Amino acid sequence: MARYIGPVCRLCRREGLKLFLKGERCYTEKCAVERRNTIPGQHGLARKGKVSEFGRQLREKQKVKRIYGIIEKQFRGYYEMAARKEGVTGENLLSFLERRLDNTAYRLGLAASRAEARLLVRHGHLLVNGKSCDIPSLQVRAGDEIKVRDASKEISRIVESVEAVDRRGVPAWLTLDRKALSGKVMTLPTRADVTMPIEERLIVELYSK
Ligand code: SF4
Repeated sequence: MARYIGPVCRLCRREGLKLFLKGERCYTEKCAVERRNTIPGQHGLARKGKVSEFGRQLREKQKVKRIYGIIEKQFRGYYEMAARKEGVTGENLLSFLERRLDNTAYRLGLAASRAEARLLVRHGHLLVNGKSCDIPSLQVRAGDEIKVRDASKEISRIVESVEAVDRRGVPAWLTLDRKALSGKVMTLPTRADVTMPIEERLIVELYSK
């Protein structure tokens, strides 16, 4: 599946908030949003006009896609699954996104960012229920165990990420065993487990037009 490979700090500046796409750097004063919180591009400073309702809906969708590192086609697929499922579509959508294996590894603290977690998965460093899995979009289920492969336990990026996990905390739907570098999905994530400021209602309005 394709993914965005351009500069990521400009994505945060475009959305006007920290999306935490770069790991440790996001928590330092080097963060581009801290240093220069303007819309990127030549006319960034001048773009301050009133935003239409459609504009707000579009921005919200872009923001969520960027947080989770997903392109339009795949995001649309998640929306359609969420709309078909019983319950509140926006909440279903966020739950599908949170349950991605790359996001789960990031939320457990095994990686400093979702992009890094995606690489861990793609390079086969993680086991799901004892089996190798290199699909970042895999939907985890309650009871699943995600573990760093024995041969990968010395990788400094993983060790450093787990050491720094207290800064952002492990959400209530997951538990982390720091020594074993493994985590468990206790329950499925709910709306309350999504910590980024997201107005999913705007995305549902955009797609249901
Ligand atoms: Fe965004 Fe992190 Fe870059 Fe700051 S450092 S602008 S939060 S990606």
